[in-house]
Amino acid sequence: MPHITIIGGGVIGLCAAYYLVKENCTVTLIERSRFDDGCSFGNAGMIVPSHFIPLASPGMIEQGIRWMFNSESPFFVKPRLSWALFSWGWQFYRAANQKQATAAGPALRDISVLSKSLYRELAQEPGFQFSFEEKGLMMLCKTMHTLEEEAALAERANALGIEARVLTKEALNALEPEIKPEVGTPFVTVVASPSALNPPIATEPCATA
Ligand SMILES: Cc1cc2nc3c(=O)[nH]c(=O)nc-3n(C[C@H](O)[C@H](O)[C@H](O)COP(=O)(O)OP(=O)(O)OC[C@H]3O[C@@H](n4cnc5c(N)ncnc54)[C@H](O)[C@@H]3O)c2cc1C
Repeated sequence: MPHITIIGGGVIGLCAAYYLVKENCTVTLIERSRFDDGCSFGNAGMIVPSHFIPLASPGMIEQGIRWMFNSESPFFVKPRLSWALFSWGWQFYRAANQKQATAAGPALRDISVLSKSLYRELAQEPGFQFSFEEKGLMMLCKTMHTLEEEAALAERANALGIEARVLTKEALNALEPEIKPEVGTPFVTVVASPSALNPPIATEPCATA
């Protein structure tokens, strides 16, 4: 069986390593941190099928340029003179259109749904107690603009067969009485159907397996 080296112990590297080992491959995983850095740690181990919009989508170029120079942002790219970076940026720019974003929706939904079912399986395996939960996620919107965006997303999610709904303030209070929306907040929420993990241990069980 081949010996495979994987660089990066985020959810992608760890899962690839895990399933390769299951196929009897020998895997060496090289990770520079203590599995407490990177995107997978930052996103709290969540899989959110109702958020099926690809990064390359309309409006992202303007937002992305602002994010690109902030090392804490979800889209930080170290600025450098590089043909590969320029070429990637050009392709990203060309892909960030409504037609491609709409076409990507069903594929991204399918990946999320499949990933969720794999999480469910992993949660049953010995040594994988990683606080797996499927309780849904609340998106609290502070501005009407964000609310309209989330509501439109929920509508498209429903069209793709994913549960997501907009709640009134009363429905929100009934579901989560401890939430006290700020005065003046449009107070409406979208509930989606994600699964969530406990972030500090989301990747650790995979790393030790
Ligand atoms: C707040 C937030 C919310 C998100 N929400 C969603 C969502 O709803 N749906 C969704 O699909 N995605 C979401 N994402 C994105 C998702 O988390 C990432 O796409 C995913 O975690 C990427 O995993 P990864 O393993 O490729 O990268 P990472 O998790 O970043 O892992 C890369 C690893 O490689 C290591 N590394 C890097 N360079 C080297 C090197 N030279 N040598 C050794 N190790 C190295 C890093 O330390 C890191 O541990 C979100 C991300 C964030 C931050």
